[in-house]
Amino acid sequence: MTGTPGGTRPPVLPTLLGLGPRAERRRRALPAGILRLPTIGVDIGGTKVVAGVVDGEGKVLEKLRTDTPDKSKSPKVVEDVIVELVLQLADRHDVHAVGIGAAGWVDADRSRVLFAPHLNWRNEPLQQALSERLRFPVIVENDANAAAWAEWRFGAGRGEDHMVMLTLGTGIGGAVVRDGYVDRGKYGLAGEFGHMQVLPGGHRCPCGNRGCWEQYSSGNALVRDARELAAEESPVVQPLLARAGGTADGITGPLVTEAARDGDPTAIELLYEVGTWLGVGIANLAAALDPGRFVIGGGVSESGDLLLGPARDTFRRTLTGRGFRPEATIVHAALGNEAGLVGAADLARQVARRFRTIKRRRVERTAL
Ligand SMILES: [Zn+2]
Repeated sequence: MTGTPGGTRPPVLPTLLGLGPRAERRRRALPAGILRLPTIGVDIGGTKVVAGVVDGEGKVLEKLRTDTPDKSKSPKVVEDVIVELVLQLADRHDVHAVGIGAAGWVDADRSRVLFAPHLNWRNEPLQQALSERLRFPVIVENDANAAAWAEWRFGAGRGEDHMVMLTLGTGIGGAVVRDGYVDRGKYGLAGEFGHMQVLPGGHRCPCGNRGCWEQYSSGNALVRDARELAAEESPVVQPLLARAGGTADGITGPLVTEAARDGDPTAIELLYEVGTWLGVGIANLAAALDPGRFVIGGGVSESGDLLLGPARDTFRRTLTGRGFRPEATIVHAALGNEAGLVGAADLARQVARRFRTIKRRRVERTAL
């Protein structure tokens, strides 16, 4: 028996099996040719579907994007969009697997989307549906898990064996990468940190509860607070309002960030509040999980230290056992809004490896 990497034993999938710290060593031991296989990652967000071809170094070779179909559309319409993008890319690149990163709850087998807030997916067997229509192996992953995986493999989480990623967008996406695998929890739903309650009786959250962390530390929280100030016609918010064309509705997250960078004291304070709440939640997560590094991504994190400065200060002031324990670092994500796509593609690469190996073994068996 020759030609199978690792001899008669098929190479195991360290990150899928959760074999721990040996995972990365095993990964390096695999033939470089396999690790370089290009794959496709698809990031399905609330407004855009982005698909890209990603090489073994995490580099995006080509990218296509289109609008996310309206929530009222059937699952088949969303599948059509994904299939169309994948086939276009596959025409121009020699790809070997497809990874889907979806904003939603993905089951532990990574095949069904249990619920997606932006799409008409309810217990949707997405992996099976796409596998039947595409000639590639397909995996489905939660978008925050995919982004965390990308940061761990190629970005700000490299070299850290216990990392937590937080993505601050409309809400808070969260994921844990531990010993070279994504910790998905028993049912695939770990990492929903945004819905930890930080203020009983606080702001209402779309999840149905009140006082969820993401109601205080997210892009939506930032914009809500800014618009509230504007609606009260506070004089301190006038420069911000002027940037927004004079209307509260014109205030957006990027606009507040831009104003803060230009020194607008109100914008700086708004980011300070969001950063302070970020630090409170991170201290809670450190108490529960004790990671070595927190990687902060998402649109709001573009404000850099205007957000992370207050987060670090509050974290240090709030952390349980402070002064008597090593403290996690809090760093800015490195891959920007491509993280979900790159991570989904890289997770799919592992399936591509298995797929190819099994196929080859079948061919060999037939030859005997
Ligand atoms: Zn909530």
